[in-house]
Amino acid sequence: MCERCGEPYGELGAHQFVEVEPEKPASCDEEGITALYRCVVCEEAERGGEEIPSLGHNFVDGKCTRCDELETAGLPED
Ligand SMILES: [Zn+2]
Ligand SMILES: [Zn+2]
Repeated sequence: MCERCGEPYGELGAHQFVEVEPEKPASCDEEGITALYRCVVCEEAERGGEEIPSLGHNFVDGKCTRCDELETAGLPED
């Protein structure tokens, strides 16, 4: 039965997802992962946990506005 409206769930065996892993936000140079949800009924079905592409640095005046990385850092030396 639904906690909010008191109505029984329409579908027998319907999944009930709860968050088991919080979202890991993507950063400039690292990928993130969306929050992972798992069904508390069957404990098998999962939802989320998808990769978030890294954002890339956002250089303004030679400095990243997100992580303060300098634009010259990480460039291969000649
Ligand atoms: Zn389930
Ligand atoms: Zn950055």
